[in-house]
Amino acid sequence: MIRAIYPGSFDPVTYGHLDVIHRAAKMFDEVTVCVMYNKDKGDRSLFSVDERVKMIQDVTGDIPNVRVDSYYGLAKDYAAKIGAHVSIRGLRAVTDFEYELQIAQTNKLLSGGSLDTVFLTTSLEYAYLSSSSVKEIASFGGDISVCVPPEIERMVKDKYRELGVTSQS
Ligand code: ADP
Repeated sequence: MIRAIYPGSFDPVTYGHLDVIHRAAKMFDEVTVCVMYNKDKGDRSLFSVDERVKMIQDVTGDIPNVRVDSYYGLAKDYAAKIGAHVSIRGLRAVTDFEYELQIAQTNKLLSGGSLDTVFLTTSLEYAYLSSSSVKEIASFGGDISVCVPPEIERMVKDKYRELGVTSQS
């Protein structure tokens, strides 16, 4: 039984993340997508951790070996808690590389060598996609239907409406 974790902010989950999740689910027996409390992004998150968990559950419910969870702490501690030895991360462009390499090496070191990182390179059609660009576009009322599944699009629009940000679409 090979368990993997896919930790991240997922604020919100995009087609780019979903592509990584589908591909990882074919490679590992069980993949746990874990919404991490991010101290840096903290208060600047658009969605609460619970909302993000629910959103990912909504769009991965059809993949039997995918679970969704959240964790306040280090990814290596969450991995140890559920007995996972693989962390999945996505790479879009060379700009992701330095940051991702640093996290991967830190996780390896802090876990005493037990947590390895597997990088999945983005599918070309999603190479431009990020949660921050989705938020930027949506906040100005732009069309995010090519970036996120319909149910996520609805939740993003509702959130901006709730926050009083006028959507023009
Ligand atoms: P974090 O704040 O931990 O970077 P994100 O939710 O932004 O969390 O991303 C989680 C992981 O998914 C990261 O490894 C990121 O590089 C990857 N990722 C994000 N968007 C894409 C995409 N379009 N294609 C492939 N990987 C992606």
